Amino acid sequence: MNEYQQIFNTINLGLVVLDRELNVTAWNRWMELHSGMPAEKVIGQPVCDLFPALCDNSFIRIVKSVFAFGNYASYSQKLHKYLFPMKNPHGSSAVFPRMQQNCTFGPIRNDNKEIIAVYISVQDVTDFVMYEHKLIQMAKIDGLTGIYNRRYLDSRLTEEIERSRRHGNPLSILLLDIDHFKKINDTHGHLCGDYALRKISELLQELVRTSDILGRYGGEEFLCILPETSHEQAVVLAERCREQIATKPLACEDHQARITISIGVTGQHRDDTLDSIKKRADDALYQAKREGRNRVCSCPAASEPNP
Ligand code: GH3
Ligand code: MG
Ligand code: MG
Repeated sequence: MNEYQQIFNTINLGLVVLDRELNVTAWNRWMELHSGMPAEKVIGQPVCDLFPALCDNSFIRIVKSVFAFGNYASYSQKLHKYLFPMKNPHGSSAVFPRMQQNCTFGPIRNDNKEIIAVYISVQDVTDFVMYEHKLIQMAKIDGLTGIYNRRYLDSRLTEEIERSRRHGNPLSILLLDIDHFKKINDTHGHLCGDYALRKISELLQELVRTSDILGRYGGEEFLCILPETSHEQAVVLAERCREQIATKPLACEDHQARITISIGVTGQHRDDTLDSIKKRADDALYQAKREGRNRVCSCPAASEPNP
């Protein structure tokens, strides 16, 4: 084995060489390990027979362009996820069952400078992509309850206001606040309070649609964004949430805590901004508090609702 062959087989990269007919002419040890296909079974075979899913238009176009023009090209994980389908080598992951890859294509020339083959290098970037995904999730998820956090809710609500205005679809929001939560903490302890926040999040998540966006807006306050939902439909949902929470006693260790929530409901108006819609929901919530708690109030329309 010559020294280049040693590098070819020990480098921490997949290396594949294709001839003009797209037959595999080289397949390094890394490719053997991660694909589970030994070189002797692969060499001489058309790459499209070995990996039919790989041979879409973009792959063929890239290889043909390298043969024609001698350019270098890349196949990025951001756009394509992976080129060669291989198991994720960093453990099982529901989000990333396959190894995520950045690939490079380049020409191989003979002594007369004629292009006789194309090489593909395959870099495993799964670790980096999984870490990035985790950070993105952490940036939008509330640590205690596992539902969305305030930062994410504000950015989604801004988007949904704009979408609703563009398409003329209705949009409503619910602002929910646990009643006398301080007393629950004081009576049953802070841990029981935390448990109640998690349980109420779970219950609310079950009650809303998957297209609704539920999050924890503050300490014991939740916001639910309801795209394509009229004000009347939102009031019905709010009443269902209020009623379900009020009728389900919360078993925390040996305590049975009774919890109620107050809810402010409002729908989007033509000139709404993030602040104006939240202000109306907040006013409605405080009206519910003033009127005795464990109730739903909706803010009167200040201007024409979205048609
Ligand atoms: P109201 O009916 O007017 O809303 O009364 P309240 O007691 O719910 O409201 P207040 O704003 O007086 O108190 C909120 C309490 O929520 C106080 C705070 O200790 C508690 N709280 C906020 N965040 C958390 C948390 O993460 N865990 C726990 N256990 N308690 C929290
Ligand atoms: Mg409260
Ligand atoms: Mg509050």
